[in-house]
Amino acid sequence: MKKRMLADIAKEHCSGKIFENISMKLYTTMHVGGFAQIVAVPAGFEDVCKLVQLAGQEKLPWYIIGCGSNLIIKDGGIEGMVILLSDPVFCKMHVSGNIVRVGGGLFLWKLIDNMRDRGLSGLELLSGIPGTVGGCIRMNAGANGKTIDETLLTVKCVNSKGELEVLDQKAISFDYRSAQGLVDKIIIEAEFACAHSDTGNISQTISICRLKRRKSQPGGLSAGCIFKNSEGLSAGSLIELAGMKGIEYGGAKVSERHSNFIINRGDAKASDIIKLMEKVQEGVWNKLKVKLEPEVLIIGRD
Ligand SMILES: Cc1cc2nc3c(=O)[nH]c(=O)nc-3n(C[C@H](O)[C@H](O)[C@H](O)COP(=O)(O)OP(=O)(O)OC[C@H]3O[C@@H](n4cnc5c(N)ncnc54)[C@H](O)[C@@H]3O)c2cc1C
Repeated sequence: MKKRMLADIAKEHCSGKIFENISMKLYTTMHVGGFAQIVAVPAGFEDVCKLVQLAGQEKLPWYIIGCGSNLIIKDGGIEGMVILLSDPVFCKMHVSGNIVRVGGGLFLWKLIDNMRDRGLSGLELLSGIPGTVGGCIRMNAGANGKTIDETLLTVKCVNSKGELEVLDQKAISFDYRSAQGLVDKIIIEAEFACAHSDTGNISQTISICRLKRRKSQPGGLSAGCIFKNSEGLSAGSLIELAGMKGIEYGGAKVSERHSNFIINRGDAKASDIIKLMEKVQEGVWNKLKVKLEPEVLIIGRD
């Protein structure tokens, strides 16, 4: 089906916004990637259901993106539809006792700050992770010895048939940076079980976590840690031991400050970053016989 027709049909199915030919650079923290054929910004869960159903009928690939902080989108862009939960309807928060219900599109830092203001503890050790609630649950984001699944109770999502589903935390199969039970699903809402605590203490923890990041992580355009830690060894130290710290390819560079970060120096293409990742993997394998597995997700076409 022609692109024009698809976008028109998508508009009929969505009371939110539909855009065509959008550069994905603007939607990832690494600032690389080609164009997406269609970008849909649904205005409610009904829109999400209808868009997924339409995609199924028209055999149109779809992809949900949070704030793109764990993504490398290839230079050929994305064929099909990108769905963004950036409408305020997906960024709401509701508190009942110690249970926090929150939209999948809300930035994690906003949730944590809001919880602090209400004296609710449970996620503050994850302060500084620049993802959305949906993206963080899908990636089982973690920091300082804590992962998001530990506080999660339930997830409301739209499945690949375009139907609403509520999943219990235990039904999801969380692992290191993965959530098997959420593949091909769009998280529109989540519930967390928090604990009442002192706002000052929560605030202090948040400050310590943010400061720790500022000291150890480089600024600039990145996707956070590029590789998963392996067999209890930090990927950063393996990269450093293999002498790959600071190496460059095109516009991409392995950070001098944190070896598990690749920085886009401004003009990197996705292919530069992917090539540099391969070089790092090769170097670590040749020197240390350890296979580094990417933590970032690489999507799209060449
Ligand atoms: C500077 C920096 C520091 C970082 N530090 C950490 C860290 O300490 N710990 C850590 O774990 N990660 C870290 N990250 C990586 C990243 O922030 C996390 O992986 C985060 O969970 C990604 O969220 P996102 O919304 O950006 O998701 P995206 O990168 O947009 O997407 C990641 C995956 O989640 C899926 N997804 C997104 N939204 C939804 C949704 N609503 N429903 C279902 N699936 C969805 C996408 O399809 C994709 O598969 C860091 C990144 C940066 C740039």
